[in-house]
Amino acid sequence: MTARILDGTKIRDTIMEELAEQIRDLKGAGITPGLAAVLVGENPASQIYVRSKVKTCESLGLHSEKIEWPADTSTERLLQLVRDLNSRDEIDGILVQLPLPPQVDTKAILEAVSPSKDVDGFHPVNIGNLVSGRLGLVPCTPAGIIEVLRRSGITMQGARAVVIGRSDIVGKPVAMLLLHNHATVTICHSKTRDLATVAREGDILVAAMGKAAFVTGEFIKPGATVIDVGINRLTTEEEVRRIFHDPAPPLEKLRSKGSVLVGDVQPEDVQEKAGAYTPVPGGVGPLTIAMLMANTVQAARLRRGVHRARLVDD
Ligand code: NDP
Repeated sequence: MTARILDGTKIRDTIMEELAEQIRDLKGAGITPGLAAVLVGENPASQIYVRSKVKTCESLGLHSEKIEWPADTSTERLLQLVRDLNSRDEIDGILVQLPLPPQVDTKAILEAVSPSKDVDGFHPVNIGNLVSGRLGLVPCTPAGIIEVLRRSGITMQGARAVVIGRSDIVGKPVAMLLLHNHATVTICHSKTRDLATVAREGDILVAAMGKAAFVTGEFIKPGATVIDVGINRLTTEEEVRRIFHDPAPPLEKLRSKGSVLVGDVQPEDVQEKAGAYTPVPGGVGPLTIAMLMANTVQAARLRRGVHRARLVDD
C-alpha cells in the first residue's frame, strides 16, 4: 500500500488565500488586524522565525511591527513593553518569540500578554478556554494539525486518536482539539508502557516527541492517518545510515545540503503502512505561521465582538 501524502504547503496556500479575503473584508469595515513580534537577543533561529512571520503579515496586508531588544533586557522592561502593547488599539496580536534570554522570567512575560492578544495561545486563560471548549486563541501548531485533518477529509468523530508527546505547545492542546472533534484520545509520553502497542490502536497517530524517526512501522496501524510534528536535523552519515533503510537518496542530500530533515516518524515505514501521512518537510510545518496569521485575524474579531467559530465541528 502506498499512503496518500497530506500536502501541508498546499493546505497552507489555501488558508492564506482565505485569510487574504477575510482581511480585505475587515479592512473594508475599517479594521486592519495588527501583529507585534517581540524578539529579545540574537538567536539566529529566532531571527529567521520572526522575519518570516513579519514578511507573511506584510504579504497578507496585516499591520505588523517587529520590536528587537538586546539580550540583556530585564524582565521589568519587557513587562512594561508588553503592557504598552496590551494597551495599543492597533495591535491585535502580541507574539513574544521564545526562547527568551535566561535572566528573563518567561512565564511572567507570557502571563502579562493580554489573553485577548495572545496569538500563540499560551496564556492560562486561553488554555482554560481550550479545555472548556470556549471560543479563544488556540496554539498554532495544534490548530494547523486540525486544519490538515479537516481539509483532507479525515474523520475525527469516533476515531481512536493517539498522541505521542504531552508538551503544552503541541501534545496537550492537539489532544484537546481532537477530543472536541469527538475522537477518543490517548496521550502517551516517555513513561508510557508498551508504546508501540498503544500507538498501533490509533486510527489517527500524532507524533510530537522530538526524536528522529522513533515511530517505526510497528507503531502504525495499517491504513492509519499519521501526523508527524517532529523536526529533527540529521548532520552525520552515521545518523542517516541508522535511520533510513535505503540511505542512498538522503546521503546524497546530506552531501549537497549539509543536513537532512526527518520527523519523529520513520519516513519509509510510514509510506508503506499508513493510509495518509504528513511528510517532513512539507507537512505540519508550513501550517504554523498560517495559523498565527489566522489567530491574529481571530483576535481582531474577538476584541471587536465579531465572532466566527473555528476548528471544532459540531
Ligand atoms: P517537547 O520536548 O516539549 O516534548 C516532547 C514530548 O515527547 C514530551 O511529552 C516527552 O515525554 C515525549 N517523549 C520524548 N521521548 C519520548 C519517548 N521515547 N517515548 C514517548 N514519549 C516521548 O517537544 P515539543 O512538543 O515542543 O515538540 C515536539 C516536536 O515537534 C519537536 O521535534 C519540535 O521540533 C517539533 N515542533 C514542530 C513544530 C512545527 O511547526 N512543525 C512546532 C513545534 C514543535 P515526557 O513529557 O514524559 O518527557
